[in-house]
Formats: sequence, structure tokens, C-alpha cells
Amino acid sequence: MGVRSLAWDRVTAHSEELSLSTGGDADVIDITGEVQRVVTEGPIGDGLVTAFVRGSTAAITTMEFEPGGVADLRDLLDRLIPVKGDYEHNRLNHDTNSHAHQRASLIGASEQVPLIEGRLALGTWQQLVLIDFDDRPRDRTVVVQVVS
Ligand code: ZN
Repeated sequence: MGVRSLAWDRVTAHSEELSLSTGGDADVIDITGEVQRVVTEGPIGDGLVTAFVRGSTAAITTMEFEPGGVADLRDLLDRLIPVKGDYEHNRLNHDTNSHAHQRASLIGASEQVPLIEGRLALGTWQQLVLIDFDDRPRDRTVVVQVVS
């Protein structure tokens, strides 16, 4: 696609909130289609798209969304930050999901993707995913914002 530049004399933004139900326990949900839909229905063709999940036990990243990749990512996080551990958050708050908070912080609550001529500039084998690390099913809000 090469180089494409625009001269901006004002900033415009378009936002929409997505509501998703998850199963928790590192449920990985492909949100690429929904994010692209928000972009397509909005007025902005070129800019920067942010997908941000509210809450401190979920994350958004990109990956190749296929069963092997999902299983390997979940295994990695199980090794890195086990569900069971000697965690202060659980002790101090009588909680059970410190692992979920830590995993969410590590991966991050948002991802940004360039928007070029109305399309998310993702690779063919690269999807935007929401991962819910909490230890129970949750209703999540993903804020999608396009800025140009
Ligand atoms: Zn907690």
C-alpha cells in the first residue's frame, strides 16, 4: 500500500461501546469483526483505532486466533501467573482473582490499530482479541474509538 499521508486541520473522533458476555477463566474472544463494523459505520476512513476494555481483569491484544494459538497463550499465562499463588490481593481483599489482575496488567487494556482507507491495517493472520481473565463469567464493555 506504500506511504499515505493526510494534512489534518482538525481532529475528529467516532466512538462506540461494544457489550460482550464472556465465560471468564481466560476466555479469548475475537472482536475483529465488531471493531471493523464500528469503523465501517462511522465517518472516518483514515486514522487510529483504539479498542479498550473497561475493568482490571480483562485485556485486549492481537494474535493469530486459532485453537492452537489460543491454547498456547493460555498455557503460557498459566505458567507465568498461576491461578493459585501466595497473592497479597487475595489475602488483603478476601478475593480469588489476583492472577486475573496481574495477567490483565501484563497484556494491557487496549490495542491500537492504524485505519487506512476504511480498513483495519491488520495482518491476514492477526486478529484483535478480548481476553477475560476473571474467575467467573462477566459482561464486558469494549470502547472502540477512531480518531483522525
Ligand atoms: Zn480482585
